[in-house]
Amino acid sequence: MTEGAATLACERIYNFHALVNPVEIMMAWEEELRAFKARTKGSAKAHGAARLYIPFGVNSNYRLVEPYPLIARRARGSRLWDVDGNVYVDFSMGFGALVTGHSHPVLVRAIRDRIANGTIFGFEGDEAAALAAHLCKRFAMDRVKLSTTGLDSTLFAIRLARAVTGRRKILKFEGCYHGSHDSLLVSVKPSREREGDPKRPTPVPASRGLVPELTESTVVAPFNDLEATDAIAREHEDDLAGIIVEPVPMNMGFVLPRSGFLEGLRRIANETGALLIFDEVKTAGKFYGGAEEAFGVRPDLKVFGKAIGGGFPIAGVGGRATVMDETVPGQVAHAGTFNANPISVRASLVTLTKILTRSGMNKAAKIGDTLGAGYADLIEDHTLPMRVQYRGISGAIHFTDHPVVDWRSFQDVDAGKWRLYYVSMMNRGVIPMATGPDEQWTASVAHTKEDVRAHLEAFAEVAGLIKKVRDVRPMIEAI
Ligand code: PLP
Repeated sequence: MTEGAATLACERIYNFHALVNPVEIMMAWEEELRAFKARTKGSAKAHGAARLYIPFGVNSNYRLVEPYPLIARRARGSRLWDVDGNVYVDFSMGFGALVTGHSHPVLVRAIRDRIANGTIFGFEGDEAAALAAHLCKRFAMDRVKLSTTGLDSTLFAIRLARAVTGRRKILKFEGCYHGSHDSLLVSVKPSREREGDPKRPTPVPASRGLVPELTESTVVAPFNDLEATDAIAREHEDDLAGIIVEPVPMNMGFVLPRSGFLEGLRRIANETGALLIFDEVKTAGKFYGGAEEAFGVRPDLKVFGKAIGGGFPIAGVGGRATVMDETVPGQVAHAGTFNANPISVRASLVTLTKILTRSGMNKAAKIGDTLGAGYADLIEDHTLPMRVQYRGISGAIHFTDHPVVDWRSFQDVDAGKWRLYYVSMMNRGVIPMATGPDEQWTASVAHTKEDVRAHLEAFAEVAGLIKKVRDVRPMIEAI
């Protein structure tokens, strides 16, 4: 694999235009890049070795970043060590999958005991019912079906919506991501050339290799625009099986729903007969009772993943009994060898009942809010060309001069500046957020005020660099 091929892959995801940047950013960038390469030689070497056998050297394309991804060796609490022995205060937390922090001691003890007594049974384990009961109580559902990844859970949720309604189409929102499966790989990061009218976005396949029939059965609407969504939903009313939404989109930074938007989706679903599906793969780890508790709207189905497993692969779909009981064996397929495997079940039960308790999550949310407020102050003090949007455990900075409320407003984000920010923060010992300008930070129960201080001190230095560089150019363009 050539260096060029890896660069191309990165550009296909974020379309960085580093080579056409003006001189100022090039100088700042070159300097930080040189420093980064000098301290991460082991990562460069390990990534080079991985690329011999793993296309582009990564097993999830979102991990690829220029000049190369860090290769991690170990992690504990709020810290992560790379193969060169550099230590980072980690605010990526496994792309939001770790509100527990890394290897929480309570979890480690519980898993050690579990592993010594069977890792997969081929039968239901004796803790699955207790976990399901906790999930149902905590997230206000009657039933839940457990599986392994966010991908398989959103896939199952829309299959169930189609089975229950006898309809075909699914409405999703431009810029939202629901996992790497064909029906929902539509308009995830559409390019300006292909995305069409902001009020009536053109469904754009987000990968090669998708059959057009699937893309055609996915309808796309603009997030936070109820009027446009209503009009689009009505147009497909007779064949609309479900409306799937990230209640707080976190694949275009951090976007809060406008007041009344989620309530409006509830009304549209009621009036059209479609099922409303909240993709809570991220939000379930941000708010103790998930989006319903945070925003007061009850969907028909909720999809879980990421943080509920404390770092182990577990996911699920839940809702009211009348819908969930339609998963009749032999009629609606739901299966998986590793579904509700005993290790993940134990991990999730311990995570949710012993670590991500209401007080644990409140503590993490306070840390997140302190970080968000700290960014806001620094942005104001330095009059930086960027904005911060946050609430509790997560938030994001956006290199734009306007609020990000949907995909089109996110699209103006300056990826060149983000890249300078990201590498410069790493050079100062902080992984400030998950990889990509469309991601966000995650605060965990393991983070402390000192971690926040370290993060903000690093940013205060990086702010000087960012201020020096002029606007670079617009960014994120992908298929
Ligand atoms: N849904 C949302 C909102 C996500 O952010 C993700 C992953 O980032 C997924 C679903 C897919 O989850 P997984 O990566 O576990 O397949």
